[in-house]
Amino acid sequence: MPRTKKLPVAPPSFHVFGDLPLDVGLGIFSLCSPFDLVQLAATSKSNRTLIQAHAYLWESAHVIETSGNYSQEAYVLWVFGGGPCSHCAKPTTSLPFHFLFRFRACSSRCEKILMSEHLYFCSAGQFDALAYTKGLPRLTEVNPWMTTHYAPLKAVKNAKHEANAATQITKFKNFSLRGHRPPAFCTFKRRTLPELEESANELQDWRDLYLAEFLVVSEANNAFVVKMAKDKQVKVTRLHDAPTMKQLVDAFNRDLELLTPHVWTQHAPKIFEELKDRPSGKNRCTLCNRTVSSLGLEAHMFDSHKNQVSDMNTKGKAHCKDCPDSKRLYTREGLEEHRRVCHSGPLPPPQPWKRCPLCPTRERRFKSVEGRAMHDRVVHGMP
Ligand SMILES: [Zn+2]
Ligand SMILES: [Zn+2]
Ligand SMILES: [Zn+2]
Ligand SMILES: [Zn+2]
Repeated sequence: MPRTKKLPVAPPSFHVFGDLPLDVGLGIFSLCSPFDLVQLAATSKSNRTLIQAHAYLWESAHVIETSGNYSQEAYVLWVFGGGPCSHCAKPTTSLPFHFLFRFRACSSRCEKILMSEHLYFCSAGQFDALAYTKGLPRLTEVNPWMTTHYAPLKAVKNAKHEANAATQITKFKNFSLRGHRPPAFCTFKRRTLPELEESANELQDWRDLYLAEFLVVSEANNAFVVKMAKDKQVKVTRLHDAPTMKQLVDAFNRDLELLTPHVWTQHAPKIFEELKDRPSGKNRCTLCNRTVSSLGLEAHMFDSHKNQVSDMNTKGKAHCKDCPDSKRLYTREGLEEHRRVCHSGPLPPPQPWKRCPLCPTRERRFKSVEGRAMHDRVVHGMP
């Protein structure tokens, strides 16, 4: 009778890193970009403590030092990790463009809107007289007739809400909660303000240098992609459309590293596999079987199937019901974020003049009341 062979017991986890000498491991870590370090730190407690115990790792990663209450990881994640646009809540990989006000924009249009419509203006005297605005980060404009402070509208609203809540608690409980009375936390904010302003200024300077280098690197990486596309006889735009290629270019640009032939050969099979799935660089609409460019799919869904769109055929994405003119599809989190940012206040007043009820397709959106009046006169012969 043959004996059953005893199999060796499998280890409960991969212990390869356990045998790695410390100096070799740290040597590898020191070559990582700041964003890589953050992700490494998130993988396990031992990695996190190792990285925290060796602060020089961040130095070699060329990031500005932290100050204030944030950890280095939180800081790097904020700068490099992307996030929702502060105006339209669209997810973006761009750096914050205004560090003092913590604004991040997805486009130059949103940047302009943020710096005009999302600001709270107030005379300097008034600004410093109110307990809750006193400690807020602000910019100052000095004119011969008046000095104006301005701050992010959202921050002002939040500070007011905070102050009100704290006052109510204090009143309700009829005792003073230390640190919760408005004057207490406002003085704390006021005390840390110079430090905040200083580090925001440093970051703003750092951002200029970083973006200059970013431009050079991204141009070189683009040239590399163009060369590879020529070699393999694919359209450059198609190659850029492949998700893996996009991720690679984004990550290398962010870390200011050049794409190399080695990286390319490692990822090329996966990229071409992805390209095979979409033969012409286009997506097929699951409802009407028409091919649409990947950028145009959202608009097509909106134009052709707005009423049929359910969670299933938009891959779990949905339109915002309070933005009837918007063609954007949001993920569940995206929609929540958008609703928080755009619809937290009272809903915007209805603007019935934007569309003409007499035109059968109602396609035209009028930009002004005058424009609509002119249209009514000329097209429909109204007085
Ligand atoms: Zn935006
Ligand atoms: Zn369709
Ligand atoms: Zn909306
Ligand atoms: Zn009309």
